[in-house]
Amino acid sequence: MEHFAAIREKLEEYGIDAMLLTCAANRFYASGFQSAGTDGVALVTRDGAYYWTDSRYIEAAQQQVRGAEVALSTAERSYITLLNEAAERHGLRTVGFEDEYMTVAALRSYQERVKVEFKPATKLMTALRMVKSPEELETLIAAQRIAERALAEVLNEIRPGVTEKEIAARLIYLMRHYGAENVSFDPIVASGPNGSKPHAVPEDRQICAGEFVTMDVGCILNGYCSDMTRTVAVGYVTEEMEKVYRTVLEAQAAGIAAARAGVPGCDVHNAAAAVIDAAGYGAYFGHGFGHGVGVEIHESPRASATWKAPLPAGAVISAEPGIYLPGRFGVRIEDVIVIRDGGCEDIHRAPKELMILS
Ligand code: ZN
Ligand code: ZN
Repeated sequence: MEHFAAIREKLEEYGIDAMLLTCAANRFYASGFQSAGTDGVALVTRDGAYYWTDSRYIEAAQQQVRGAEVALSTAERSYITLLNEAAERHGLRTVGFEDEYMTVAALRSYQERVKVEFKPATKLMTALRMVKSPEELETLIAAQRIAERALAEVLNEIRPGVTEKEIAARLIYLMRHYGAENVSFDPIVASGPNGSKPHAVPEDRQICAGEFVTMDVGCILNGYCSDMTRTVAVGYVTEEMEKVYRTVLEAQAAGIAAARAGVPGCDVHNAAAAVIDAAGYGAYFGHGFGHGVGVEIHESPRASATWKAPLPAGAVISAEPGIYLPGRFGVRIEDVIVIRDGGCEDIHRAPKELMILS
């Protein structure tokens, strides 16, 4: 999938003659070139597109980049030189850059050595990336299926005595075994009292009976991320554990019911937060209900208390409320949903009812 033409169509709206892309996520989104690695620059002008990279990536770029002229950058012919040549060829005066990604040092270097005006334009890319095409959705769903399959399989291995690290290692292995290129983030496996830390790092801790185990996993397939969380119990649950689990599930359902195109992200968050508040756990849900998922694991838009903008149709966001009781336990349940006119679609198939593994 390449998006050079889609980017080009937006140049006028953002008042720029060209868009300079240096961050890996945007270079991949523009070119569809997956082995984009750490180095490379893409430039989209009103009548052309370029992909420049060094000797480590040039052969792959020539094979994979579609819709742009691929050229080699060397010590003698740097990205700055290539950009200056393109600026002259196309008469560029204003070039958009990724103000939310580019370092201050890199921007200074471009400004000192390229005779154009650089204008912040990350928003051009976020607005485009926020709305997924049917092809992107298909890829995102395929990535979710891999995560679901790995998680379903690992449930058979969770029992007292197994460590968080072992479960995390198995999840990584299984996702790659089922075709993922990589993980979209290091899996979170948090058992018992560790579950109260939303982003706990897996430890050597052995899982015990009477505990919850929260697993937050995702992988990358064809450049697109998946993300899901399930919390399962081992052996038995207390009444309070059951109540907290039920509350989180109801909060997720409330957020999902409120999610549709045109609704501000904060309204979706608030619908879920209200359920948790009503159950008396309002102080124990500190993060946002959801974040965009796509080329990056966290991207626009958000369904958080501070995101006032309406969610566009075609946006893909997570639905992940949680309750975290410090020093005791935590529960999070996470699906990924597609925002549509009049509603949304949960792309997960994995069960969510409280599961007590014996
Ligand atoms: Zn997650
Ligand atoms: Zn997430």
